[in-house]
This record gives sequence, C-alpha cells and structure tokens, in this order.
Amino acid sequence: MAKQIRAMMIGAHPDDLDFRCGGIAVKYARAGHKVKFLAMCNGSGGHHIMSPKEISERRYKETQRVAEIAGIEYDVWMDSEDCELMADLETRKRLVREIRKFNPDVIFCSRPNDYHPDHRSASQLVQDASYVVIVPHFCPDVPAMKKAPVILHFYDHFQNPPFKADLMIDVEDAIDEKFEMQAAHESQMFEWLPYTKGTLDQVPADPEERKEWLRQPRIPRDGSLDMSMFTKNLIGSPSEYREAAAAVKFRDKLIERYGEKGKDIYFAEGFSVCEYGAPLSKEAEQELFPF
Ligand SMILES: [Zn+2]
Repeated sequence: MAKQIRAMMIGAHPDDLDFRCGGIAVKYARAGHKVKFLAMCNGSGGHHIMSPKEISERRYKETQRVAEIAGIEYDVWMDSEDCELMADLETRKRLVREIRKFNPDVIFCSRPNDYHPDHRSASQLVQDASYVVIVPHFCPDVPAMKKAPVILHFYDHFQNPPFKADLMIDVEDAIDEKFEMQAAHESQMFEWLPYTKGTLDQVPADPEERKEWLRQPRIPRDGSLDMSMFTKNLIGSPSEYREAAAAVKFRDKLIERYGEKGKDIYFAEGFSVCEYGAPLSKEAEQELFPF
C-alpha cells in the first residue's frame, strides 16, 4: 500500500454516517486505510419507549457492533443530547481538537441544508473547523494540522439547492456490509424508524428475516426498475432502492469514472466537494479514492 489514507466521517447521530458513507468506509478499511466515524450527538432522541439515557447507552453499543462489522473506529459524544447540537464556539473548539488528533486526509459530512437541526449544526461545525484546524494559535493545546483536509459532503435527496455530484464511488462490493451496519442499529431500523412511519407491525421477529426486510424492495437487475420508487417520500426508508438513488440520478458520472461498467452499478455513494477544504485536484482524487 502506497500510503495509509486517514478518513474521518463526521455526523450528528449514531447511524447517519452508516447510511451516507458506510460503503466507502468499508472499502477504505478493507484496503488497510484508517476510518473514524464521529457522531456528535448521543442518539438520546431516538426512541418512543426507552428513556434518553437508556436509548443512548443502547445506541452506543450498536455503534460498536458497526465498528466491528466495518473494521473502523466509531466514536460518540455521549454527553451531547439529540436535538441540541449547536454550532457554537465551545463545540467548534471540541471538534477542532478531535479533528487534529485524528489528522484526517479527508473528511466526510452532510450538506448545510438539511431537515434536521443537528445535521445542519454538524455540517456547519465541520465548515467552521475547515480552516482553523491549521491555525496554531486556535486551541494551542492540540498541535495544529500541517495541511487542511479535503472535505466532501455526502449525497442527500434534498432538492434545494440541488446536489452536485463531483465524485461517484462504486460500492457494489460493500453493499452487504453496508446493510449489516444498518441492521446493527436495531433500535433504529426495527423500532424507532418503523414507529415514526407507522410500520411497526410489519417488522419481522426473526433476525435474518429482519435483515431481508431492510433491503426490500430489492433492485431488479433485469431492467425492470420501478422509477416511481425514487420519489422523495418512498426513498426515506431503508431499502435497496434508497441505496440505488444516487447511482440512478448520477449515472453519467459513474460512466465517466468507470467506463462501460458504470452502466451496471446500482450501489454507489455520491460526494460533493466542500470548497472550504483543500481542493480535490486530479492527483488528490487518485490518491484518496483508489477504487
Ligand atoms: Zn440524523
């Protein structure tokens, strides 16, 4: 291996990152690179029965199961409650110290426009840290980074402003692990999210049946794709269709990167370059995305 890449995925809740960049995380880890997920909230809002303390402790255990599946490090700010993440100075300093300690070559985070206040704050915090991670007089107790990292926003389905796919990465070979990672968030996939969508009665009891339920509806590979499945409402729940949304939308980018093979890729993750990080030059792209 030429160089060990250090990739840091920074999100709000303990499961956000698994959905958005779980595939690329698996690919990095499998190739011997170093990956760290950081959830800046403890997940305390994610249940209808368990108390905030009970659910955040349970969710932490779920993240550690994900860490095992993917071969990554998964950190959670356990003192930071859901729905209360603020892009303030104190939190900026905390994040800058964390980023410097990990010293990433590339950071992945959500876009600043998003329905959830914690997602917006998380994105804002990364942008606020983007330059000051290299400023030695800011938080001098942790040495400043020598070089600013590349920062990428991961794909979401929001339309305003439209997502610009600068980079599409094939994750077909990591999709099984990506669904395993999602299934490890049992409290979310099989309890809380179905509760919020009124589908609790549809969740199978058997663990293997549950995993298959999470993938349903599956993507047919015979050309009989149901395009109506990609509407905003339907794509809100886990399914193979949700995982295929970016590939279908940015097919031209996949073909540009992978040639003819790009026509057959359904599971891909899309990223947009945040212009406040280091520029993603052709050389940087080749070095940071060797897939
Ligand atoms: Zn979230």
